[in-house]
Amino acid sequence: MRVRNYGVALAAVAVASMTLAGCSEKKDDTIADKDKLIVGVKYDQPGLGLKSGSGAEGFDVDVAKAIAKKMGVDEKNVTFKEAKSANRESFIANGTVDMVIATYSITAARKPKVTFGGPYIVTHQDIMVRADDSSIKDLASLKGKKLCAVSGSNSWKNITDGTNKLSQKVQMETVPAQGYDDCITKLKGGAVDVVSTDATILAGYAGREGSSVKVVNAPFTDEKYGVGIKKGDTKGCEAVNKAIADLYKDGTMKTAWDKWFGKANLPFDANQPQAEGCS
Ligand code: GLU
Repeated sequence: MRVRNYGVALAAVAVASMTLAGCSEKKDDTIADKDKLIVGVKYDQPGLGLKSGSGAEGFDVDVAKAIAKKMGVDEKNVTFKEAKSANRESFIANGTVDMVIATYSITAARKPKVTFGGPYIVTHQDIMVRADDSSIKDLASLKGKKLCAVSGSNSWKNITDGTNKLSQKVQMETVPAQGYDDCITKLKGGAVDVVSTDATILAGYAGREGSSVKVVNAPFTDEKYGVGIKKGDTKGCEAVNKAIADLYKDGTMKTAWDKWFGKANLPFDANQPQAEGCS
């Protein structure tokens, strides 16, 4: 009798723990319910995501911390991990990170693989050249020049495929690179003539490099920066979108922008960009 009672008690414990396990498994299905978050950010882009000590710093890093806080996750429970342009989709799909906040444009090509919260900011693609190069003034004048092509980035394709506001396909010689820091080295060394990407990214390098390089200031795309999360996590995406709306309302987004881009001539648009939707 006693033994049988133990059996019943054990079965009850087993059922209870299975239920608990079931709950916690379900809890982890969406980033909305997590109490710790791993965020993929760039580690080599000054002003946006730059490795610093054991963590990272920049606008994207501050946005990540602020979004996490609005979602109930304290800064000390946010871990940063280096994401490169080429591994953002795979990091999200295989769970290496919970979200990617890494100058990650929302594009039609990426949408089938990634659910995007946001955009949290809109920037525009521009052109950087060596300071003594007066031959490049706009998109059309890039023809025949050597363009830095970062793997997994959409920037060079916006030029060579014509996915820009002018619908201009410009033929250029592409030189592969691992990231934009690598592109700047190649630009200064003469391996490429042009680094073309988001104005935010170029502003960060222009600030670091001083007088050796210049930004042409001829923007030709809209880049909507999104928060990349696992495909189908609608609840997580909605939580991110609510957080972004709050960050516009309470002024946090403007404060973060001014902190990192106040010195560069990049204006902040006080109107929150229209959310893309989570489906
Ligand atoms: N925002 C662009 C993109 O998502 C260029 C910058 C980058 O590659 O991180 O492709």
